[in-house]
Amino acid sequence: MATELNTSIQYLSGVGPKRAELLRRELGIETLSDLIHLYPFRYIDRSGITPIARVAADLACVQILAKVVTRTLYGPSSSIVSQETDPIHWGAVKRLSIIVEDESGRMEMVFFKGIRWNYQRLVPGSTFLFFGKPQAFGGRFNIVHPEVDVPQDGAMAQGTLTGVYPSTEKLKTGGITGKVMCKLQSAALALCLPEIQETLPEYVLRDNALVPLQYALRNIHFPKDAYALQKATYRLKFEELFFLQLSLLKQKYVRSRGECGLPMPKVGPDFHACYNALPYALTGAQQRVIKEIRADLMSGRQMNRLLQGDVGSGKTMVAVLSCLMAIGNGYQACIMAPTEVLAQQHYANIQKYLKPTAVRCALLTGSTTQKERREIHAGLEDGGIGIIVGTHALLEDNVVFRNLGLAVVDEQHRFGVDQRAKLWAKGPGIPPHVLVMTATPIPRTLAMTLYGDLDVSVIDEMPPGRKPVQTMCIGQNRRAAMYKFMRDEIARGRQVFVVYPLIFESEKMDLQNLEQGYEDIVKAFPLPDYKVAIVHGQQSNEEKNFNMSAFVAGRANILVSTTVIEVGVDVPNASVMVIESAQRFGLSQLHQLRGRVGRGAEKSYCILVKDVKTSKEAQQRLDLMCATEDGFEIAEQDLKMRGPGDLEGTQQSGLPINLAIASLAKDGTLLMQARVYADRVLDADPTLSEPRNFLLLKELRKEKYEMKDYSKIS
Ligand code: ADP
Ligand code: MG
Repeated sequence: MATELNTSIQYLSGVGPKRAELLRRELGIETLSDLIHLYPFRYIDRSGITPIARVAADLACVQILAKVVTRTLYGPSSSIVSQETDPIHWGAVKRLSIIVEDESGRMEMVFFKGIRWNYQRLVPGSTFLFFGKPQAFGGRFNIVHPEVDVPQDGAMAQGTLTGVYPSTEKLKTGGITGKVMCKLQSAALALCLPEIQETLPEYVLRDNALVPLQYALRNIHFPKDAYALQKATYRLKFEELFFLQLSLLKQKYVRSRGECGLPMPKVGPDFHACYNALPYALTGAQQRVIKEIRADLMSGRQMNRLLQGDVGSGKTMVAVLSCLMAIGNGYQACIMAPTEVLAQQHYANIQKYLKPTAVRCALLTGSTTQKERREIHAGLEDGGIGIIVGTHALLEDNVVFRNLGLAVVDEQHRFGVDQRAKLWAKGPGIPPHVLVMTATPIPRTLAMTLYGDLDVSVIDEMPPGRKPVQTMCIGQNRRAAMYKFMRDEIARGRQVFVVYPLIFESEKMDLQNLEQGYEDIVKAFPLPDYKVAIVHGQQSNEEKNFNMSAFVAGRANILVSTTVIEVGVDVPNASVMVIESAQRFGLSQLHQLRGRVGRGAEKSYCILVKDVKTSKEAQQRLDLMCATEDGFEIAEQDLKMRGPGDLEGTQQSGLPINLAIASLAKDGTLLMQARVYADRVLDADPTLSEPRNFLLLKELRKEKYEMKDYSKIS
């Protein structure tokens, strides 16, 4: 349908093919509709005028009402090309300098572009409004490329709040300045607004005291006043969060009715045998979670549960007991780990737990021999193997189960969405129940959004007896003292992790890389007194396993590594975690790494070694690490400091949907409100098929709400 809204941006006056390409590349804007849905991220109150004498470098933007005194054109290397009376050779001009003055003083306005145009209009003696960010230059202040307006009678005619749009250097040099963007928005709105249709039903607007969409769009771009802006923002944020929750909850509803699951009414003798032989009592949180899982397995619907629990909170135990419930009902279970080392460790632990039972457990990874493989395949097919632990190797086509009833996936973020389908297909006609475990504490607001259609269990209690990890942050000047400390700990029979953020991959950064670090450590901890192992991503599997097991078995005192040890590896005898260039790591990564120590009976330490160049934000992260060990608090702070997009640094893809205006970090309360309301709407009309909900259904059909099963195994 040819409408204004889906007209290419190219045809908007002031754009054209070149700028259209720029807008597409830099901001993903292709149509007028895309443009008007790009909202300002802040607003400048342009009602105030700053006297020149009060201009300071740390002011964001100032508006100056001043008279032009002189205009000077400069050529290359600051030669003066023209000063008023001379004839002008435009080709040689590189810069235009305008000196302006008001009653309080003088300052300079500088132009590198649009020189001729500005030269011609900024005639000495005439007064203008200049707007921009002042910077100190040679002891004075100037503004480069200020926005220039002719002062109007009676303050500013266009309203006093001006939106500031997301922009890039390329956009600015390509001529799409803030002012141009405002003009484009204004033109686009004029064309599109009449076409804009309300997306929320009348009753939803009424219940939530929301302004109509047209009003909201107009005022989000060009606020009539602060109140109108507030109403507009509220409406747009609410709408965004509401539809997000509505789509998630609707999926959940459909799933909980539709997807049937393998019925597992019993607990079974193996569960009891294992449970009764446990060397410790389960924590209250572990018990609660096991009850939740039990209820899922009995429900007749497929379980899709995320189990969150900080490092060391005892998720493995929960996984094993869940597997035994499946076995108690005649099914098999599998546990998938992201790495071979982890799979091995799980396998070793699980075998211990299984001793009092009759269950046979096997390990399948990339390095399983052909002969073992054949036996395992046979055992899985005839049901002789009850629990299989492994890596992605479990997903291979030739791995066939007799009747897989439960799949446990450890550290969910390492698994891709596509693998879920493979796993599901391994069930006996009906997909197996799925339990995804993660040690990444996800703040509540984010969890609600990411996993809105998934059931979430949280182990929020540590097994008794875990000692706090003493965390400190040091500079390079204390390296010698740190080495001495490491020697003392090793002399006590302890082991030390040393982690580096990079491995010879960074051209531009002056980071010590892993290899250099390894050399240094080996020099400081020489043979035969010390043994140092090294593990990194570029080693072959054998090499990695060899080094890793040397450390796990206690044959090496120090393990130098990249973050491959981040997930799950358990070496109770390791009491020191040294993190080099700690300022390079994100909070959740630091937290995960720290979780590798403090697992044994000994007091443990985490030493964050920072480089000289540590930004203020990085320092904040390090300070927070020293201040708390609470994973959820760290996650909340992380969200606040970094925004949800890169919550997980490189690991997590972020949100299932891009939010245009709402912020999960800042709009938690509104998110909650939107969710409660979405719940109410679905409660009254689960399929949204009532006529009054027609608009909602229509909106949810849009592509952006076709969520890619994030909630399942992703
Ligand atoms: P994670 O949640 O990081 O996977 P694990 O399952 O590896 O944690 O458990 C960490 C350690 O705590 C293990 O050594 C485990 O044996 C122990 N553990 C688990 N549950 C309890 C408990 N209820 N009481 C005491 N120790 C426990
Ligand atoms: Mg674990």
